[in-house]
Amino acid sequence: MGSQEVSTVDWQGKRVTVAGLGVSGLPAARALHERGALVTVVNDGDDARARTQAAELEALGITVRLGDGATLPPSTELVVTAPGWQPDKPLFLAAAEAGVPVWGDVELAWRLRGDNGRKAAPWLAVTGTNGKTTTVRMLASILEAAGLRTAAVGNIGVSLLDAVLGETEYDVLAVELSSYQLHWAPSLRAHSAAVLNLAPDHLDWHGSMEAYAADKGRVYEGNTVACVYNVSDPATEDLVREADVEEGCRAIGFTLGAPGPSQLGVVDGILVDRAFVANRQKQAQELAEVSDVNPSAPHNIANALAAAALARAFGVEPAAVRDGLRAFRPDAHRIEHVADIGEVAYVDDSKATNTHATEASLAAYDSIVWIAGGLAKGATFDELVTGAAKRLRGVVLMGADRALIHEALTRHAPEVPVVDLERTDTGAMSEAVARAAELARPGDTVLLAPACASMDMFTNYNKRGEAFADAVRARADESA
Ligand code: ADP
Repeated sequence: MGSQEVSTVDWQGKRVTVAGLGVSGLPAARALHERGALVTVVNDGDDARARTQAAELEALGITVRLGDGATLPPSTELVVTAPGWQPDKPLFLAAAEAGVPVWGDVELAWRLRGDNGRKAAPWLAVTGTNGKTTTVRMLASILEAAGLRTAAVGNIGVSLLDAVLGETEYDVLAVELSSYQLHWAPSLRAHSAAVLNLAPDHLDWHGSMEAYAADKGRVYEGNTVACVYNVSDPATEDLVREADVEEGCRAIGFTLGAPGPSQLGVVDGILVDRAFVANRQKQAQELAEVSDVNPSAPHNIANALAAAALARAFGVEPAAVRDGLRAFRPDAHRIEHVADIGEVAYVDDSKATNTHATEASLAAYDSIVWIAGGLAKGATFDELVTGAAKRLRGVVLMGADRALIHEALTRHAPEVPVVDLERTDTGAMSEAVARAAELARPGDTVLLAPACASMDMFTNYNKRGEAFADAVRARADESA
């Protein structure tokens, strides 16, 4: 099995520093302690929550150092870090200087898989700037339809470590990986992997677009069967070319157009496979209909094709791809249809927190009243607005950085009416929806796709989406 072999580490007495309490730190510290490692947890914060967590760990015999995540404890042999910790932190510089390796939560899960005597399931991995969660869930749905024991895990709410060390035995895992997690996962070797797309995001963390792309590209390292890339995003294909893969591993493209050999694509409303067929020069296999994909917006068809490619690489039959896609239900706040009021559709894509996601969202509708704004995270909006201008009936802007979007609209779409909402109180979203409703004409879509983070006005994108849906439903009730 070459690089897919399970590696064993002798943990007895090994001095491990776990950087960061929290979602990944706690289970990591426990798992390592159980295996006989001498664990010290270091954490920047020293609040009430951290103290409670620290007390739990200390009761087990684990050392915890609160309020100082910068200093490397002496004689550390390995650092296991929470994925979000920025690589230029002094702790990592000290580790590099001392020649101490640093692993993230994903690397640890990869190394520990199979060490509890259970089968080490192969990983089908998905990364990209947008569409990861959707694609991983679609993939898990397809694998389930094929009768395989599987789970959607990783950067998706279910920790990889729990999945790998838990009671359940899996045939295969559908794994979502963020760029941070990949950064800290040097020896990960997936069965097959997909990079969905690459657009600037999290550049403050990675330092540059090149560094961000390089971390995403690690997902292809050591793949054994397929490296799946996006034909319309050449940067993803470049990453395949640069990757060091197992012999026989194939590059498989997905496209919204007709597929060439070794690609999956779309022909006359049918998702077809020209990669995993006996004669790919002449033959194409029907997988599903475009209408089997929910919602069937173009970017989501792309997600479905990527999921299908990974499933087919794993040997899944075409009928299971269709059944899995039909059974798939998108997560909340991702192009979620809330209601139709007077022939106007109201759609919640609160999860569109960057311009690349919003671009895909806006491309899915012909005539839009767009609700946008929030925290721009350093983004610019010229390209987004230029691309969407002809489909905009009107725009309602809210949130801290709304002026940036307004300026781009003035530059590139001066004829589009813009409502600029100053208020940021709890009633602001109701007013945004009311103003959008005034602008909308029958057949239009009112689309919340903010292109910004939500934290200036809401706890998170879920709360923002809920505020939108509540406001829409209240109007629907009134007009019923
Ligand atoms: P992620 O896990 O990468 O954040 P999600 O599946 O949660 O991705 O989708 C996040 C948002 O990105 C969606 O609300 C949608 O607007 C957008 N999106 C989803 N898939 C794609 C894609 N393939 N290309 C561009 N944008 C996408």
